[in-house]
Amino acid sequence: MSMERAVESPPRASDAEDVESVDRPRCPICGSGPLRSLYSASPLDYSIDRSFPILACVGCGHGVTSGVPRDARSLYETGSYDAVEKRWHRLLRSFLRVLEARKLRYLKSLPAEGARLLEVGCGKGRFLEAAKRKGYRVYGIEPSSRSFAVASRLVRGFIAPIGFEDIATVADFPREYEFVMLWHVLEHLDAPDSLLAQARRLLSDGGRLVIAVPNFASLQARVGGANWYHLDPPRHVHHFTPRSLRLLAEKCGFEVEKISFDSFYQDYIGDLITVVNRLLPGKNVIFNGLRRNPAYLDRYGAVRAWAQFAAAAWLSALFAPPIFLVTLLTQWGRRSGTMIAIMKPVVPSRRA
Ligand SMILES: [Zn+2]
Repeated sequence: MSMERAVESPPRASDAEDVESVDRPRCPICGSGPLRSLYSASPLDYSIDRSFPILACVGCGHGVTSGVPRDARSLYETGSYDAVEKRWHRLLRSFLRVLEARKLRYLKSLPAEGARLLEVGCGKGRFLEAAKRKGYRVYGIEPSSRSFAVASRLVRGFIAPIGFEDIATVADFPREYEFVMLWHVLEHLDAPDSLLAQARRLLSDGGRLVIAVPNFASLQARVGGANWYHLDPPRHVHHFTPRSLRLLAEKCGFEVEKISFDSFYQDYIGDLITVVNRLLPGKNVIFNGLRRNPAYLDRYGAVRAWAQFAAAAWLSALFAPPIFLVTLLTQWGRRSGTMIAIMKPVVPSRRA
């Protein structure tokens, strides 16, 4: 399965006479094709001054960001990923700690004591810290040097500053795990299938893979379109639906045990910001304002940028109660902005 081809092929939707062209990519997940062009979307943190076509599969609903730059690493040092820790991050620290500890509920299928847990893309290590306190033996990899530095201080021990393709090369790491966690990682990769294949090799037969991704089939994605909070082009390359995630898992040797729609914080924030994004010319203006994102301030000038920030704060306060209910309803209807899949490896029967 070649994921990269779909990502790199430029869209041809503007060439009306070229609809039959063999160059138009097929779905990297289910093979249906050609993908149809949905809309063009710009980075919501203004980190790149261009837009990216978003293509979608008519078969499984999977979405792909087209034209993602080959060297996307620099995208993780700018905009939403800038290097300075802001004061409001420190204020939120204990709240974030509670959120991270709540993720442990997805690991309930096996006892915690002594279970080996690998988090791929462990960020600042807050989840691993919570898991360690519960008795898991924790391991993490994190390609961003700044997050790695924070995570190594916090977790002490087994964190490696490597890319996702190199897991098997870390000498101190076990060859087998009871849990592998991919929390909002898979959507960033050109080739999510190769990471899942690696996870399959690293999991014990009775182990579990936990994957959280944005839900491209959500009401939030539908309402938001190019302004959907969790679209995040071009950092998000793949946009999964429950169906495409299930198909990919099956291709890579997993059986989906359960898909949950209960990540309230991410769903609620996504709903609220998506609605405000639709109403104002600026995008993610609360986050861009709090971060004093230079690209956002340059785009609108200080006066307009801060006027929009005030408007967004007012709109968010106004909509917070009704959207709280909308979020609960979409979770209940399995159409929330994000989803969490719990998968187990398919183990070949030993009987002849
Ligand atoms: Zn498809």
